[in-house]
Formats: sequence, C-alpha cells, structure tokens
Amino acid sequence: MHTEFDVAVLGAGIVGAATAWHLAQQGARVIVIDATGPAAAASGASDGAVSVASKKPGVLARLATESLLYTRIMAKNGPLAGQFHARPSWYFATNDVELEALDALRAKLLALDGPVRIGQDGGPDLLAGVGVSVRRLVEIRGEGHMTGYSAVRAYLDDRRIARRWPAAITDIDPDTTGVTLSLAGGDDLRVGRVVVALGVSTPMLFPEMPVRPLSGHLIITDKPQSGALAGALTAGAYLIAKTSSGTGSSERPVVIDPLITGQMLIGSSRVPEADAARMDFTTILHLVRQAAAIWPALSERRIIRTFVGVRAAVQDGLPIVGPMDHRGRVVMATGFEGDGICLSSLIGREVAAMVLGLAPTPALDRELAALSPTRFIHTAREAAE
Ligand SMILES: Cc1cc2nc3c(=O)[nH]c(=O)nc-3n(C[C@H](O)[C@H](O)[C@H](O)COP(=O)(O)OP(=O)(O)OC[C@H]3O[C@@H](n4cnc5c(N)ncnc54)[C@H](O)[C@@H]3O)c2cc1C
Repeated sequence: MHTEFDVAVLGAGIVGAATAWHLAQQGARVIVIDATGPAAAASGASDGAVSVASKKPGVLARLATESLLYTRIMAKNGPLAGQFHARPSWYFATNDVELEALDALRAKLLALDGPVRIGQDGGPDLLAGVGVSVRRLVEIRGEGHMTGYSAVRAYLDDRRIARRWPAAITDIDPDTTGVTLSLAGGDDLRVGRVVVALGVSTPMLFPEMPVRPLSGHLIITDKPQSGALAGALTAGAYLIAKTSSGTGSSERPVVIDPLITGQMLIGSSRVPEADAARMDFTTILHLVRQAAAIWPALSERRIIRTFVGVRAAVQDGLPIVGPMDHRGRVVMATGFEGDGICLSSLIGREVAAMVLGLAPTPALDRELAALSPTRFIHTAREAAE
C-alpha cells in the first residue's frame, strides 16, 4: 500500500500533539488533523497542574509519577523547554472532612515513595496571607505547571509534523492494509495507522467508548501588585472530588493557581454538562467567594476573563489508551478527564510506541494494560448479545 503518511493523529490537543512529536522523533511520516485547530478544546481551556498529589491512588498515581519525571526530562532538553515550570503547591483544610482528605493525601504520597514529597504540614501560619477559615496546610514539593495550549504549540512547531485544519473527520474505516479517513466536505485520506485523540468528541466516531463531558469553570484575574502566591492553593475537597469517581458532582472545590504570566487562575467546577458554552453565574460567584475567603488578597484583583472547559470523563475514572483490535491500525488515546496535561508526555511516548509496534516501557506494562479500550469493546458486545 502506498500512502503519504504512516500515521494520522486525529485531534490537535495536548495528547495528539505529544503523540505526533514522538512519532516524528521515531522517523514516522505523521499528519495531525483537527476539526478546528491546535488546542481548540480541553487543552486550550484548562489549568495545567502536573500533579501526582491529586491523582487517585493506583494506576493513575503511578502513571502521573512517571509522566512527571519524563516531563522534567522533556523540559530540560526537549520540546517542553520553557513550558514546564516546577513549583510548590499547598492543599488546605477548612473542615473535618478536608482534614481527613489531607491525612489520606499524606498516606498516599508516603506509599508512592516517589519524587513528590510532603513539605511543611501544619496550621495557617505556615503561609502568610491565607484566610481565617484555613485550619491546616500541607505543602507539596516536586510538582509543576504547564500551560496546555502553549505546550501544544511547542510540540507542533516541529517541522517534521504535517498538519491539516480545519478538517473534521466524519468516518474511520480500517482494513487489512491501512485506514481510510473521510473528511467533512467529501475528501478521503488513506493512511497506514490512526491515533484517535479526540477528547470529548470521541463517541461521535466511536459510540461504544463511554466518554462523557464534565465541565469546569475557570476565572482569570489581572496581575497582582502584591500578595503573590508561590504555588497553587487547593481545597482538600478537590482531592475528594477528583478521587471519588469519573462522573462529576455538584461539588465546586476551589483551586487558586498563580500562572507564569503573573495572573491568577481560579477553578473549577466538575459538573456533567453537555453544553460547553454554558457559563453559570452561580458557579462563578461561588468560586470567586471561596477563593477570596482562602486568599483575601484576591479581593484586590480584577477578573479579566471567565470561561468553561470540558473534560472527557470515563465512567471507571481511567483514560482509554491502546489498540482497538489485534491489528492495531486504530489506537485510542482519549478520556483524560482532568489529568491530560499531566499525563500527556508519557502517553505521547507510549502511544507512539504502540502505533509503531515497539514494546511499552516494561515498568508500565500493567498500568497501560488497565487503560485498554478492549474493556469497553467486550462490554458493548456482551450487551448486544
Ligand atoms: C477546567 C479544566 C481544568 C483542567 N485542569 C487540568 C490540570 O490542572 N491538569 C491536567 O493535567 N489536566 C487538566 N485538565 C484536563 C486537560 O485539559 C485534558 O485532559 C486534556 O487537555 C485533554 O487533551 P486531549 O488532547 O485528550 O483532548 P482535547 O484537548 O480536548 O483535544 C481534542 C481535539 O480533537 C479535535 N476534534 C474533535 N472532534 C474532531 C473531529 N471529528 N475531527 C477532527 N478533530 C476533532 C478538537 O478540535 C480538539 O482540538 C483540565 C480540564 C478542564 C476542562
């Protein structure tokens, strides 16, 4: 079969961009196709915590640890130079439930025994400037932040990667020698293999993949003249919301994150919501009030922008990564919920290896197997029988 491209990566979010870069690095002829353009969806409307502390214990926490380590390497002498910024962060408790969540956080990080460590742990006096409702603070060291859209641009700057947008994929038809892609407007493209990095849009082409929208409101302030924070300040309730299920809730625990621009980002709700454009005034008010109570210096700031991003959540709380069948012509890389920025460098590397038929990193065998799309293909077939 002759095709111009060995691999088409569908979706120019951070997962697609990282995968395309790793494929190009391995010498594959790769094209990235997007319905809109780079970082048009979740990767352009998110916070960028590269965090192990916030992950569910088990598969996700182990993958996040490996991704953090690999992101640091890619930031030293790779495409993420100037993108990843190391910084401390703080988790706070204002009530008994959050105090327990911080105990669980301690236990989780101690059990992981990885590069992310507990720093100071104590009362509100540990961080000058926190509000009176804060009862305990736990400092986390070893993590960092990466702005999604900026990292996407850095990956796609690589001239070895071909690109096509706006170009919506309407059908994917694999056979024994390759894959035919149908594009809106009537064009076809024949390629060797395909990576599906379509985020929340995945079910439009693969209805059996249980990916659901989970929206999050974000608020950006102007630059503070004083009262700057050295790292993110996150509610203990956020840990509970993140680790309970992949389906979201009415919880709106606050995160206050100082951006590299000097502005502050305040987030974020976790609400099952199909309409990404829906800006809910009550949620914004709730987040702003919580944020100002925890970090009173914010009351002096002006809000310059609010927006809603949509996470791609999977019912069992794990992303969907791996070949769709034994032929491996279509490889899924989707469902990263609130963890895609953090996991992207590792997932990009491992998905590129899967596509090229290379062995996965041995230490990650079991974790990657747990993400396989076959867990849903079998379920869908059994339900149909
Ligand atoms: C409010 C919020 C806060 C977050 N905070 C964090 C955080 O702190 N840390 C973290 O690690 N993660 C965070 N995330 C999650 C992170 O943003 C996502 O997991 C990640 O961006 C997903 O990247 P992706 O490449 O899988 O998908 P996306 O970025 O959604 O990209 C999918 C792409 O597919 C394209 N597409 C869709 N349909 C088609 C089609 N038919 N044909 C062609 N192209 C198509 C879209 O245009 C889009 O560009 C947050 C998300 C939100 C919403």
